[in-house]
Amino acid sequence: MTSAPAAPAASDVQYISPVTGQRFAVDTPMWRDQGGSHLNLTLGHGLAPADIVGHERSLWRYASAIRVDAKSRISLGEGWTPLVARPWDGREVQVKLEYLAPTGSFKDRGTSVLFSYLRSVGVKHILEDSSGNAGASMAAYAAAAGMKARILAPASAPAGKISQMTAMGADVGLIPGDRQAVADMALREAEKIFYTSHNWQPFFIEGTKTLAFELWEQTGFRGPDAVVVPCGYGSNVLGLWIGFNELLARGQISRMPRIYAVQAAASAPFHAVWESGGDQWVPIKPSPTMADGIASVKPVRIREVMEAVRGSKGAVVAVSEDEILKSLRQCLGQGLFVEPTSASSGAALTRLISSGDIAAGETVAMVLTGSGLKATDKIASLVG
Ligand SMILES: *Cc1c(COP(=O)(O)O)cnc(C)c1O
Repeated sequence: MTSAPAAPAASDVQYISPVTGQRFAVDTPMWRDQGGSHLNLTLGHGLAPADIVGHERSLWRYASAIRVDAKSRISLGEGWTPLVARPWDGREVQVKLEYLAPTGSFKDRGTSVLFSYLRSVGVKHILEDSSGNAGASMAAYAAAAGMKARILAPASAPAGKISQMTAMGADVGLIPGDRQAVADMALREAEKIFYTSHNWQPFFIEGTKTLAFELWEQTGFRGPDAVVVPCGYGSNVLGLWIGFNELLARGQISRMPRIYAVQAAASAPFHAVWESGGDQWVPIKPSPTMADGIASVKPVRIREVMEAVRGSKGAVVAVSEDEILKSLRQCLGQGLFVEPTSASSGAALTRLISSGDIAAGETVAMVLTGSGLKATDKIASLVG
């Protein structure tokens, strides 16, 4: 008599298709299911303060909750960014300096964990499409891991980000048109090179969930009341939602922080879905925005992002170019040298404070996602 294979332990990570519910082992890398849907990961088990590796000054201090093989780890010291109290519109807010990452954006959280996973399953050549920061991050981690990188970017992407990719050895293809044209081209090249897109790969979100763990640890293991974060495809929004959910399930926090996903009104597909009241894509007419890092048109995980925003009792906030510019000046005027995309979170925070959605006395984290150092020309042209 042959016995059925043992059911996997609850803590074993698997891919799961949100459409069919089918699960797949992660020892073979995938980026979508047979029907073309993206894949998510089964929920992790979170951690408790005693599990933190205190001497590790990177997101790997939470290694016990990151479901990749420690032997394959690729780290450049990502994560463990400062949380500093600063004034904003007469309030004290907690500013999360994600722009102090190895390549200048929070993307390094996702890339470090994703590439560690890819290395553990033998992937040596990666394909990415990016408006800039994710490509720069992947170029760096590919160099660190000895992998080959092919990166497609919009021809209009800031020169600083493109040179960052090529200087670290990536094979960069510049594509004319909008962000969607780049994503479409990547889907064609994915027939030849394994597609490691940060927008598709769920192990990228396994890395961004450490943002939630850090906000929890840095607020004295309590968690903020609200988090305001720029949102293009939603990897930070989903990382926060998943990370805080793991902490809730472990009894480490008592309530879910409200997640405010910030989009540039010029190109705001999540805001269109939010307004529709549903969770299906709504066609939009995008126009250019100074917040190039969040200019999405047809994001991948729409239902999941809506669940995160609604389930946390947050909101999707669409901010105008004027509001972003005003926030950028406000950031720069405080010594926070961020790229315009990052300033969208400050623009939303201003609105949420004046509308009363964020009450006096609440602990609110404003996430600044990307450095101004690779957008100096753009910043100069905007603020003189
Ligand atoms: C990529 C990026 C974002 C948007 O992140 P998503 O995961 O697409 O929501 C925000 N800010 C900066 C600086 C970025 O590079």
